[in-house]
Amino acid sequence: MANLPLNQEELQARVRELEADIERLSTTDSLTGLLTRAAFLTEANQRIYLPTNPGSHRPGTLIEVLVRDIPRITGTLGRHVGDYVISALTSRLNLMSLPDNVKGRLSQDQFAILFPNITDPLMAMTTAKEILEVLQQPVDWLDRSLVMDVAAGVALAADCDSEGEGDAASLLHNADLAVKIAVQRGGANYAFYNPALAKSAKRRMDVLNALQQGLENGYIEMYFQPVFEAKTSKLVGFEALMRMKTPELGSVSPAEFIPIAEESGLIAKLGAWALFDACRIASNWPSHLTVAVNISPEQFYAGTVTTDVHHALQLSSLPANQLELEVTESSVLKDSESIQIQFLALQELGCGIALDDFGTGYSSLSYLWKFPFSKLKIDRAFIAAMDSTPVAKGILETILSVAKHVGLKVTAEGIETKEQQEVLAGLGAHFLQGFYFGQPMSESELPGFLLSQLDIPRNNGSDIIDLRLAASRLR
Ligand code: C2E
Ligand code: MG
Ligand code: MG
Repeated sequence: MANLPLNQEELQARVRELEADIERLSTTDSLTGLLTRAAFLTEANQRIYLPTNPGSHRPGTLIEVLVRDIPRITGTLGRHVGDYVISALTSRLNLMSLPDNVKGRLSQDQFAILFPNITDPLMAMTTAKEILEVLQQPVDWLDRSLVMDVAAGVALAADCDSEGEGDAASLLHNADLAVKIAVQRGGANYAFYNPALAKSAKRRMDVLNALQQGLENGYIEMYFQPVFEAKTSKLVGFEALMRMKTPELGSVSPAEFIPIAEESGLIAKLGAWALFDACRIASNWPSHLTVAVNISPEQFYAGTVTTDVHHALQLSSLPANQLELEVTESSVLKDSESIQIQFLALQELGCGIALDDFGTGYSSLSYLWKFPFSKLKIDRAFIAAMDSTPVAKGILETILSVAKHVGLKVTAEGIETKEQQEVLAGLGAHFLQGFYFGQPMSESELPGFLLSQLDIPRNNGSDIIDLRLAASRLR
């Protein structure tokens, strides 16, 4: 049948229909029929934002749901399976009898659900739990049963930063932070946003940014803490410790920035640089002084340590027997073949390997003979415990006698007082390190310190010190 020309009214109706179609297409996700991110935010703003009184108590709760396995499923089974799972989960969400809500699909693996009438945290928690429970049920696909790892972040509008806009975007940002915390907790879990969380997330971002620019901008430097022989009180070497200082953040402790560098993967670059810089500086020292460099477990998992050590030694011309690597128990916990192979390769290169922070964590003595350690470093927490815990001294005695049995040298860390020095020397620790003997110092402070150890008067007006020459007098 030939199309009859449309009259004016019909034409207008058609245009309106078409406009509605276009609007729907641009605001809904084609797979699930849920709102797209932009449309969700617009709708959510209309439902919760009170523009006339932005600082007032705002109603509503936003729950963000992350289906963590979607990228893995898409990667292994194909995009169509990922889409199938998301459709199945959307149907379940739609079938749930939830309080009045607005649903959106934010990205491939993220849903957001706004509940304009939930203001009670307990109610928000119950709702998040119910959603997780429903979404965790297996999804059948062909003959397989796919179980999704799901996490939820809960943000109450009432907790929105009063300085910020307090709109749906900031509510979503809060839920985003909460979901990250839930993921860190592992398993199917939920977490609530709270302002302290936001503060720590911002600090983490600031430290990460500083780390990213740290090497180029000179924010990061190696410091060196002296280590002494217990019997003779002679200097035997230094432990290299990383320091970071920025104009904005001031000094940041390695206890804070090393874990951030590890989580972000930056430790590979920083660790390689630390090895090289410590070797470069140590190559100017007398040849009987060693330098100990801390190695993160992540560097072993990445399998880069041997190459990094090899390069650092080659570029600095430092003899391998002057380099010692400090590793913590978590590096050897996995007891994998790869770690064993790397240890043997490092031993082959001629470096010493010290087990650091012994006395914290598992402190299993079996590591001492399973891995080719040359030294054991007793953690300072253990030394400090001697003052308050009488059994600590007995345990230290046992550790020292086991170490002696397996031919290991022992360093006691964190010696802060004369009494601790005397007790540890008396117990037979070979080396001592701590604030009692010296703080970590910068590269520029080293020559003066070394001279003080050598007991040689400075040449008047001369800052240039030939340490190798001085070394011959030290021995
Ligand atoms: P660690 O390897 O056990 O280093 C010893 C820590 O104890 C250092 O803290 C040192 O300044 C501190 N210390 C030394 N003597 C005393 C003392 O008498 N009293 C007290 N209270 N503390 C003392 P720092 O420099 O803050 O480093 C903390 C940790 O960060 C290190 O523990 C190490 O695990 C890690 N770290 C530092 N630099 C690096 C690095 O270049 N790479 C890696 N992967 N980790 C590093
Ligand atoms: Mg150490
Ligand atoms: Mg230590």
